[in-house]
Amino acid sequence: MTTRLKPIAFPQRRFDVLVAGGGNAALCAAISARRSGASVLVLEAAPKFYRGGNTRHTRNMRCSHDSATDTLSGPYTEEEFFDDLLRVTEGHTNVILARQLIRESKAMLPWIAQQGVRFQPSLGGTLSLGRTNSFFLGGGRAMLNALYRTAGTLGIDVVYDAEVVDLDISSGKFHSAIVQWGAQRVVCEAKALVAAAGGFEANIDWMKQYWGAAAESFLIRGTRFNQGVVLRKLLDKGAQAVGDPRQCHAVAIDARAPRFDGGIITRLDCVVFGIVVNRHAKRFYDEGEDLWPKRYAIWGRLLAEQPEQTGYIIFDSSVATLFMPPLFPPIVAMTCAELALKLGLIPESLEATIGEFNAAVRPGTFNHEELDDCHTQGLSPPKSHWARRIEAAPFYAYPVRPGITFTYLGVRVDGDARILMRDDSPADNIFAAGEIMAGNVLGRGYAAGVGMTIGSVFGRIAGREAASNACN
Ligand SMILES: Cc1cc2nc3c(=O)[nH]c(=O)nc-3n(C[C@H](O)[C@H](O)[C@H](O)COP(=O)(O)OP(=O)(O)OC[C@H]3O[C@@H](n4cnc5c(N)ncnc54)[C@H](O)[C@@H]3O)c2cc1C
Repeated sequence: MTTRLKPIAFPQRRFDVLVAGGGNAALCAAISARRSGASVLVLEAAPKFYRGGNTRHTRNMRCSHDSATDTLSGPYTEEEFFDDLLRVTEGHTNVILARQLIRESKAMLPWIAQQGVRFQPSLGGTLSLGRTNSFFLGGGRAMLNALYRTAGTLGIDVVYDAEVVDLDISSGKFHSAIVQWGAQRVVCEAKALVAAAGGFEANIDWMKQYWGAAAESFLIRGTRFNQGVVLRKLLDKGAQAVGDPRQCHAVAIDARAPRFDGGIITRLDCVVFGIVVNRHAKRFYDEGEDLWPKRYAIWGRLLAEQPEQTGYIIFDSSVATLFMPPLFPPIVAMTCAELALKLGLIPESLEATIGEFNAAVRPGTFNHEELDDCHTQGLSPPKSHWARRIEAAPFYAYPVRPGITFTYLGVRVDGDARILMRDDSPADNIFAAGEIMAGNVLGRGYAAGVGMTIGSVFGRIAGREAASNACN
């Protein structure tokens, strides 16, 4: 617990709605519940400075809209959104909830703006999202600041450093939460619970159950507070699980990133500009398979399957300025052999891989903003687009490892965001929103910006329904 200049007392009264979590889903739920007339307590495990979980790192959300706006370059219909979701999930989605998510996403932009969040036009970069995704002015932290400010104005109580460590639930009915608040254990009663405490990606021991020792090498892009305690307790107390525990959103991030909270600046978006090799200096996947926004989220998983869960993005000076500069500088050398030595790879192996790749590159017109005709021939795996010879010194490399964004195993919910118990009956007074139930919609795959849509849409529903449950 952080040192407080002025200790506050833990709120003693029984609230209508208790919200476990302090990110986007939790705040949307809390505001929605309060606006529906309920008294609301938000319990955030993190100290105030780190409040807001993974939401702090976000930049945008994907919502359907009928026409261009000041900040969006064109329409994004419900059908197009649904097609995108079906494609990325390969049909592994609850179609009813997915349709509901998309339908209700339309109302989210004005609703979120009403809570004080401001938007800005999309910034340039390798994820071209200017038409489909709304960018938060100032990023996720500014977005959260606005939501917390609104929560305060509405009279919502928020307690930081307050980790929900257990839940008293019997026969699908929530009675109270046990909260670790500094050195104190507090029993916190409420008429309804909204579980919005994220996934379990920061719990390496839990990840190891599905990934084995490989999980030791995972870097967690977001908050260390998403330990999955609330999810675990819900599952232990009869909530129905949804989603494959091995499925998660995972990208390639700089291997030098910190274990937790490296955020967006450690992500590497230059895969399409070069080749990616493993510890044996061998390529293992088509780096140019599709446009980067549609493929960036597979690279974490691909790296997780490589020796020591490590890879190296290799490129040359001809493309070195074409992508967003990340936090760490690239490793540079004047020859491929020297680069290999700096990376701890066998020089002859890297030279052979680059030599084979260069020999397979066919001439074409390079355009990294579309699926161009620069490809390899007779190479396995191929590079289907943006294939250019790696030959212009200096040569560059970024070491990469799997960066886990969030997990998909969660609790099953219905259209009211109400948790379903293992016998399919709806819980009496327990609702869920955000990462903790994202697996209902994301069976696999990801479309950029959908995480925030799930949290906002189902957060708003969960808050409204929890309030109605508690107050009627
Ligand atoms: C680097 C990065 C960039 C991202 N960029 C985007 C983006 O641009 N667009 C997008 O849509 N998605 C993005 N995502 C995904 C996005 O962050 C999540 O989908 C979204 O924030 C989920 O919101 P949430 O409220 O469910 O979870 P979180 O925001 O993670 O909030 C979970 C909260 O629960 C709290 N908590 C955890 N355990 C407990 C407990 N036991 N008791 C009390 N509180 C607890 C945590 O402290 C935290 O406040 C990004 C993620 C990362 C890591």
